[in-house]
Amino acid sequence: MLKVWIAAQDPRLANDMADVVRIFYGQINYTVTDASPVPGPDEMLLILREERTDGLVDVTVRAEGAVSGEARQRCADCPDALEFKRRRKRAVKLAVYALMKHATGVQPPWGALTGIRPTRLVYQRMEAGETLSGALDWVRDTFDVTPAKAELLGQIVSVQRALPPPSPRQVELYVGIPFCVSRCTYCSFSSGEIGNGALVDPYVTALLDEIAGVRELLDARGLTVSTVYIGGGTPTALPAPALRRVLEALVPWTQGKEFTVEAGRPDTIDREKLRIMQSVGVTRISINPQTFHDPTLERIGRRHTSAQTLQAYALARSLGFDDINMDLIAGLPGEDLAIFLSSLDQARSLRPDSLTVHSLAIKHASALHLYGVPLPDGRMTAGMMDAAAACAHGMGLRPYYMYRQKYMAGALENVAYALPGRECLYNVRMMEETGHIIALGAGGISKRVAPTGGKIVRAPNVGDIAEYIRRVGEMVQRKRDLWSVKDFDMSLEPPPDQER
Ligand code: SF4
Repeated sequence: MLKVWIAAQDPRLANDMADVVRIFYGQINYTVTDASPVPGPDEMLLILREERTDGLVDVTVRAEGAVSGEARQRCADCPDALEFKRRRKRAVKLAVYALMKHATGVQPPWGALTGIRPTRLVYQRMEAGETLSGALDWVRDTFDVTPAKAELLGQIVSVQRALPPPSPRQVELYVGIPFCVSRCTYCSFSSGEIGNGALVDPYVTALLDEIAGVRELLDARGLTVSTVYIGGGTPTALPAPALRRVLEALVPWTQGKEFTVEAGRPDTIDREKLRIMQSVGVTRISINPQTFHDPTLERIGRRHTSAQTLQAYALARSLGFDDINMDLIAGLPGEDLAIFLSSLDQARSLRPDSLTVHSLAIKHASALHLYGVPLPDGRMTAGMMDAAAACAHGMGLRPYYMYRQKYMAGALENVAYALPGRECLYNVRMMEETGHIIALGAGGISKRVAPTGGKIVRAPNVGDIAEYIRRVGEMVQRKRDLWSVKDFDMSLEPPPDQER
């Protein structure tokens, strides 16, 4: 792993600089220094200097050690502190990017972009009066994004703009079930193995308390529910009676609404659970193969086979589920393009209504050696993502949301494709942060969104299951507090006759 020393007059910029280095090197180990260490062969020293002259700021970044070179950027000084912070940060990142690109000869697909939501930049430009194509040109030219990725952004924004917008008086409801039947080795969620199930009933009881508290809150604030999404974890890891308790408690909110259950692991799906979901009006489920290659499934700790995926899918279709998503992962350990293509072929033959393709993100380097086999390199994973895009296109699916994470293979992205009309509104509103999210259960993060300006206030639930059970009343109070924030957006406040 590359060791990076960062020397900056303002150390608050070190993290942004490190983010750009990660585009090229994946995992790095960085330290901020005010000395001038002499970097060893596997080390790099990045030195940032800034000079103000005549209303301009000159940013110079110099690298020594494993990478050497220098790059400059200039930005206009500005009396608006927030705007200046933004310009300066961008100049620093672009200087580091130019240096790294020159030194490595690598063209990253998303150029200098390090954020989770590249669509955000497009929307910001459009809100300022630019056309979609003008906004895409700006993103491509400013950040050195490849034309293919700029086109992907354009397709996604076009699809999203045709979808029903969220209403300021509605919320998207998320319910987290933090249990799984085994832990996937690449998992970065705070879910736990269900084990002997001892925590299931206390968890469900706490969740029902939180549901009751949230119902009072929504009634008091005059808010209604727009979409419901049960995720995790693996909601279908719950035994059937527990799953029924949770789903039935949501019924007052779900009728006629988009209602998704992530039935993620095929080995947790059976006829009884599917019937329960049908009885409460679930409209959309996700059955996630991740790969149809059994040796990979075993390697990543999924503990199910591709035959089980096929059975679960056939069963759900036979019972009448007509909106099914499938997730695949590009860049799994030991897989090459041929294996990934065969998974795509299998998915194509099943004709899911939506297909979500992730590129593997591994947060902790220590997990890498759990696999015992090499990971595909970034270029191969990029080829897999291109093949997935072509496959989805051939299936009549359109890309409708995307996001990026740190530590993704090849600095790529996750893309969801759907048949027209099968786009999951919850996913779009949650990912683009355009809808209020009320998140119940351990680890859920509720968000209240201002209608303009992109301001968001958050209220997280605790992630630890036992803590959540113990402190569920406090989790409800956090949501009450979130909707009591004053001077945030008065139009969100309910009419006086609805106050209690
Ligand atoms: S199914 Fe999902 S949440 Fe559960 S362990 Fe695997 S990656 Fe994590």
